[in-house]
Amino acid sequence: MSEGTKAFIKGAKVITPERTSTKPKGYRYPVAEEYFGEDAESRLNELVEQGLMEREFYQRELGCPKCGSINLIVRFYCPKCGSTHIVKGEVIEHWPCGYVGPESEFKDGKCPKCGKPLKKIGVDYSKPGPMFKCMECGEVFQNPADKLNCANCGETFDKGDAKEVILYAYRITPRLEEELDIALAQRSYLIENLTKMGFNIENPENIYGRSGVKHYFYMVASRGTGILKLRIVIEILSAYKEVPVDEVFSLYAKALDVGAYGLIIAAIPKFSEDSKKMMDYYNIAYVEVPSLDSAAEKIIKKLKELMETPTRPLHGTRQLGWSLKK
Ligand SMILES: [Zn+2]
Ligand SMILES: [Zn+2]
Ligand SMILES: [Zn+2]
Repeated sequence: MSEGTKAFIKGAKVITPERTSTKPKGYRYPVAEEYFGEDAESRLNELVEQGLMEREFYQRELGCPKCGSINLIVRFYCPKCGSTHIVKGEVIEHWPCGYVGPESEFKDGKCPKCGKPLKKIGVDYSKPGPMFKCMECGEVFQNPADKLNCANCGETFDKGDAKEVILYAYRITPRLEEELDIALAQRSYLIENLTKMGFNIENPENIYGRSGVKHYFYMVASRGTGILKLRIVIEILSAYKEVPVDEVFSLYAKALDVGAYGLIIAAIPKFSEDSKKMMDYYNIAYVEVPSLDSAAEKIIKKLKELMETPTRPLHGTRQLGWSLKK
């Protein structure tokens, strides 16, 4: 799980959806989007699959049968010709001639059809209540046909044909919360001590290799600026038994790509013998810890040791052997 994901889960214990007309689907998870971007919902579902979050029913919505969007508009239609050009108003039924039309058409109290003046309600005319009139075909009706219109794809359909869309809320599990507490404590311990040692913690969003590829590391700390900038990559790898050499090697390649001067790797619980041989050869510093809760302390201790003695840079780096000492 990435650092961004951890920070996200920790920051928001319950993630709820919000309706919006600005997204094709018609809803979004605003808190999750800050971390995951556009595809926040699929990332949330991944976390559920990984057992890190729980999903629960939040709301039932009607969705477009074509595209699934819940961004629907109810539109009234003329039941005779299907036009949406209909107006609602009080209508008058003129009994002598049978004309039915909106009140506004009976100008000066006269029937627009037969021209006779209206006398008395209940004697020669009635007001059957609000009705609709189609401005296209002239039909007057009490109940317009209502259809749903998808604001996303434009599909028009009957309510009965709408698709059921269930919106979910996402909740962090207590067990995970405990694990995250440990992870965050480790992280702040590292940041605090690295800062004391004169390092800046780099923003993970800005770590690009010379190749142009974006790389993700547990932490990247640097000191100095310009060509004197020393970058240290810190990584924590965990394995069921031991961290294999190929995993260490790909990390080494990424560290070289970002021009790292030093690379420190912590393994939970340990490295394979091949990994250690490789790390010794390439000047990669490493520590082994039984669990995450002692990783940060060991890493700082190791880094301090390195700073006390003349240190060689990462083998293969273009940077030459400046001392880590201040
Ligand atoms: Zn009509
Ligand atoms: Zn009339
Ligand atoms: Zn649609």
